[in-house]
Amino acid sequence: MSFKCAICGKEENSLLRTNHKELGTIKLCVDCWSKERIKNNLLHLEGGCDCCR
Ligand SMILES: [Zn+2]
Repeated sequence: MSFKCAICGKEENSLLRTNHKELGTIKLCVDCWSKERIKNNLLHLEGGCDCCR
């Protein structure tokens, strides 16, 4: 079973689950993850609740 990056479609074993501002919960390869993070398109997924960051 393989996973594909939601943006570039690259098949990777280790995709990062992210909460994307526009696309919702998706899996991204590290390349796209860094790019989206720089563009500030990623919302925080880890860390429990939003209220106590
Ligand atoms: Zn990608």
